[in-house]
Amino acid sequence: MLCAKRKAKRTCPGVRGGICSICCGEQREETVACPLDCEYLIESRKREKPQPMPATIPNADIQVTEKFLREQAELLNFTAQSLLAAAFEIPGVVDSDIREALTALTRTYRTRESGLIYDTRPDNLLAGALQERVELTVREFRERKQQTSGMFSVRDADVLGVLVFLQRLELQFANGRRRGRAFIDYLRGYFESLAEATPAAP
Ligand SMILES: [Zn+2]
Repeated sequence: MLCAKRKAKRTCPGVRGGICSICCGEQREETVACPLDCEYLIESRKREKPQPMPATIPNADIQVTEKFLREQAELLNFTAQSLLAAAFEIPGVVDSDIREALTALTRTYRTRESGLIYDTRPDNLLAGALQERVELTVREFRERKQQTSGMFSVRDADVLGVLVFLQRLELQFANGRRRGRAFIDYLRGYFESLAEATPAAP
């Protein structure tokens, strides 16, 4: 019960009690940490429209082509999946933490690409934890590639391109709410539909 004015007609799993439809709409993913399986949240997601790209997007100078995404599909899936897993494992992570982590990661890889080792660390602890996880994933991926192909085939520029693509996806799918997890939800749905589309081994 938030406003204590209107009749609480909905049962809110976020506040573990009743909520009126107006508070539900206004406070959803703002002050209320909505569980992703809340029926009202799921309904509202269907009406959320992709955000228009801001006039100035970060890393605008980096081109991410269809061809690049096809070539780097394995790295992209691996990175996105690890980001998604980390988002669920680290309590309290919301889209804006992912945004901060991706900002720091792209900065780090930009400097690495230019030959400098200068790691950017976000102040936000959740974003920092996400960043660490992604870096670990990239390292694992590189080691695996090195073992199977016998050469160092994953360039910093490839990692950077993948990170910039994820950054743009986040900008597009985030709903702008303080505790919004529309992007996390999008990633989850994407990998779920991918798993369903892959026939099980006989
Ligand atoms: Zn209310």
